[in-house]
Amino acid sequence: MDLTEMFAERTARMKASEIRELLKLLDQPGIISFAGGIPDPALFPSDAFAKAFAQTMEGDQAGSALQYSVSEGYLPLREWLVGEMAKVGVPCSVDNILITSGSQQALDYLGKLFLSPGDTALVNWPTYMGALGAFNPYEPRYDQLSINGNRSAEDFKDSAKAETGGRVKFAYLSSDFSNPTGETVDRRGRESLLDLVDDLDCAVIEDAAYQALRYDGADIPPILAFEIARKGDIEACRTIYCGSFSKTLSPGLRVGWIVAAKPVISQLVLMKQASDLHSPTLNQIAINAVARACFEDHVSDVRKAYRGRRDAMLAALERYMPKGVEWTRPEGGMFVWLTLPVGVDGADLLALALETQKVAFVPGHAFFADGSGRNTIRLSFSCADEATIEEGMRRLGLALQAAIG
Ligand code: PMP
Repeated sequence: MDLTEMFAERTARMKASEIRELLKLLDQPGIISFAGGIPDPALFPSDAFAKAFAQTMEGDQAGSALQYSVSEGYLPLREWLVGEMAKVGVPCSVDNILITSGSQQALDYLGKLFLSPGDTALVNWPTYMGALGAFNPYEPRYDQLSINGNRSAEDFKDSAKAETGGRVKFAYLSSDFSNPTGETVDRRGRESLLDLVDDLDCAVIEDAAYQALRYDGADIPPILAFEIARKGDIEACRTIYCGSFSKTLSPGLRVGWIVAAKPVISQLVLMKQASDLHSPTLNQIAINAVARACFEDHVSDVRKAYRGRRDAMLAALERYMPKGVEWTRPEGGMFVWLTLPVGVDGADLLALALETQKVAFVPGHAFFADGSGRNTIRLSFSCADEATIEEGMRRLGLALQAAIG
């Protein structure tokens, strides 16, 4: 008996990434890793969570905290989010908000909501590989998002139809300090994206996972805020905003949220009911308590720590990178993106760097929907202290020198 023969066609595109195989090697002692794109656990507000969980379980709320709850999400948390969204220029009501199990679930639901096989999703080259992983089972075609006006909406529509017979359903992008490049879409870019999607008559999925982690420069309102400013009301907007507490409070509790026009939220609520009924009640209660008690102060501490690490990485790159290597200078987030001289392969470099220098990173290739980008790598500065970053960049410089020859 071979059950794998009976798997649905959609599973053909659910593949383990080659990177995961390479990263298994990271368990060896002495490796300095800039591979994991995860928050530093030392920065989690553990005391505040300990208090929130204890108070909930000791109080009258214990029963309801352990009970099923509504699919839309814990109301006091949605109310707090209404206030936060208003602060960034997104006036909305609790009915515009759905709590999800992390923003990863939001990406899965939005793929399910919009994509029929052969429909087109516009994504950056490179983009968050977890978004590609979430969309892939819905069998889309990908096209390269371009917001500088060098491709017309007609051109995007025509190639969507000609190649797979579908239509462009959405543009997905991480607007601030993207994973993997660390880059941010500026105000003009946000406006021209909105021009493009209006012409295309498609949705925008705005992934705001890193939005709170800005270290310098002025905040830029979300794309959804720009669209509300144009159209007057969230109900007239095509942008769907995906937020997350993963990079600010805790990724393990799996709490994120979607903000969108009500008809979108209503359909997503049905999807949530069918998929997991609701996100864990206790986790939502704890996130609500901690967010209300200390969100701003906590995020300000996290920013301070990561700012120092970002600065250390940029300074060390200047010192140790051989000629011909270029990198981004992110104003926030967790990542720096390196472009290596053409012909230097990121995956080969990882094998060499692990073996000879005991330093790790993620080859950039897997972030490209078209399989390009072999001469790129992603470095994450979130989990290493300044001295380790300095030593790690020194080692990376040596590995690169050996690779370039
Ligand atoms: N979007 C981006 C750009 C990410 O980097 C991540 C996590 N690495 C996610 C979404 C998913 O995060 P979560 O589900 O924990 O909110």
